[in-house]
Amino acid sequence: MTDVVSLIAAMEISQADEVYNLAAQSFVATSWEQPLTTTDIDAAGVTNMLEAIRIVKPGARFYQASTSEMFGLAQTTPQTEKTPFYPRSPYGVAKLYGHWITVNYRESYNMYACSGILFNHESERRGKEFVTRKITAAAARIKAGAQRCLELGNLDAKRDWGHSKDYVRAMWLMLRQDTPDDYVVATGETRTVREFAALAFKYAGIELEWSGAGMDESARDKASGETVVKVNPAFFRPAEVEMLLGSPVKAERNLGWKREIGFEELVERMVRNDLALIRG
Ligand code: GDP
Repeated sequence: MTDVVSLIAAMEISQADEVYNLAAQSFVATSWEQPLTTTDIDAAGVTNMLEAIRIVKPGARFYQASTSEMFGLAQTTPQTEKTPFYPRSPYGVAKLYGHWITVNYRESYNMYACSGILFNHESERRGKEFVTRKITAAAARIKAGAQRCLELGNLDAKRDWGHSKDYVRAMWLMLRQDTPDDYVVATGETRTVREFAALAFKYAGIELEWSGAGMDESARDKASGETVVKVNPAFFRPAEVEMLLGSPVKAERNLGWKREIGFEELVERMVRNDLALIRG
């Protein structure tokens, strides 16, 4: 993404009709450690890709993976295509550039360029640095006796979590319309990290105990012996996105998109997969 010559060659060789830009430094926490790499890939990289398309095959259709992190300190709830942006991390700021340069190339050059503002989407293949997979992988390891406890940061953060399989279908639908546009893709439900963990441990068949700042007084009184989930301030972020909740109304209406996998099934699938991996 940082080498426009390679991207031009990729377009020349492939003669692609559709380009989906899912390339990114996509982990929010890392973006404070590597803000410039994040900017090169997630912001300037989008211009590189758009230029390669414009130079080689301007009729190709382009999908840009934008993100709910652009809403950050959310200005309205639920967040829609019209909600003002307020990113809270170098990642969110870089992605906002990628979003606007996509809009700008559409308007400047009449390119078929769409930006999908996707809320958190997870799957069995999610990287273990993200909280969902970190939780389900740990639940499986704890169940197998390979790990004693799980350390997390902000348990109160709320996210609108869907399954990637549904969300990839929305990307594909965006490139099959008469006119290019931008869409929020979300479930319309929000859950805390605490709720995700509670459900994952339930599916893994582990009785959960909380320890540290994240639990209330009654839970602290009851906690004894083995501690399963601990709050570790090292996992808190310099600036947090406390709550995200997206409205899929436009995507449902214009694209005919509907998510098929709900929150419970998402958690269950991830836990089941991690249990199978550790048993295997
Ligand atoms: P993000 O929404 O793209 O930042 O996805 P993440 O899965 O990395 O984080 C989702 C939320 O979980 C954020 O609000 C984090 O602060 C919160 N969180 C709490 N504990 C952890 C943890 O141990 N790891 C990660 N990655 N996130 C955590």
